Amino acid sequence: MSEFDIIKRYFHWESNDSALVVGNGDDSALVQVPAGFELAVAVDTSNSGVHFPVATPADAVGYKSLAVNISDMAAMGATARWFTLSLSLPEVDEAWLQGFSTGLKTIADAHQLSLIGGDTTRGALSISIQILGLAPQGTRLLRSKAQVGDVVCVTGFLGDAAAGLALLQERLSLPEAAAHYCMERLNYPTARTAAVDFLIQHAHACIDISDGLVSEAWHLARQSQVTIELDATCLPYSEALKPLPLAQRQAFALAGGDDYELLFTLPSEKIYLLDQYFSAIHLPVTLIGLISEAKPAVRVHGAENFQTSGYDHFKY
Ligand code: ADP
Ligand code: MG
Repeated sequence: MSEFDIIKRYFHWESNDSALVVGNGDDSALVQVPAGFELAVAVDTSNSGVHFPVATPADAVGYKSLAVNISDMAAMGATARWFTLSLSLPEVDEAWLQGFSTGLKTIADAHQLSLIGGDTTRGALSISIQILGLAPQGTRLLRSKAQVGDVVCVTGFLGDAAAGLALLQERLSLPEAAAHYCMERLNYPTARTAAVDFLIQHAHACIDISDGLVSEAWHLARQSQVTIELDATCLPYSEALKPLPLAQRQAFALAGGDDYELLFTLPSEKIYLLDQYFSAIHLPVTLIGLISEAKPAVRVHGAENFQTSGYDHFKY
């Protein structure tokens, strides 16, 4: 199969997106940004053996590579619309390409995203997706906007993906149903796009949790120049993690990566709005801390025995 056969067979999808002026197949795609919106742009690369275990099913690789990018859009208060795919493949493995393409298309369709271009090369397995989205003009859901007096909230449950990875690496065992659930959370993360409307209206600052809660909290703390106090006794856990010893659950939740939940700050007078909005979208939301002073720090209270700083690719 040639490069062009691969593109045609696996990555040339029909689209009825009226804002897509020119899709893939030319030297560049052309998209139309509607009046009143700003273009949000992000890119995330997934390397085999680094971002996903070598044995990850192909459809999960496709699904997750895009999910993490959609999550970045959500954390910015933007709605993902288009993406490009730069794919580096060690060989042409049609079964793998079919699985990858299916996983990618499943999540693209669920979020009504068009694949508008890309690049296909030979090399170590690596997937780089650039995503383009739209945010209403003036949306400023930044990491730098947390204010003293805000409360700190998180969507969903924490630690499930880290437990999934621990299961895969045989550092953990769980009953079968719980193990299956954690593996699904690791391989098929959910970008919390349903929270975006609330966040752009009410939240001050937001970040998505790719590298672990404490590590992401540090980004908010540094960029907003504030102290984040986290109450480890309030962390939200799924039913799957409840049988585990508290210290282990806390470690997964505080330091484990790959949850793709949204961590955000909210002025305290808006706490009362959380319940109505989030129960309507069937997404748990939990108050886990507050912003105490204008000095960059993260303090974790009530953790059994915790020390870590999250995942950093260049720190060993
Ligand atoms: P160029 O030589 O101009 O870089 P390419 O030969 O790399 O173009 O790609 C031809 C067309 O196919 C382009 O429109 C490009 O966007 C698209 N394309 C290449 N690889 C992919 C891919 N993996 N997924 C989607 N579109 C792709
Ligand atoms: Mg090219």
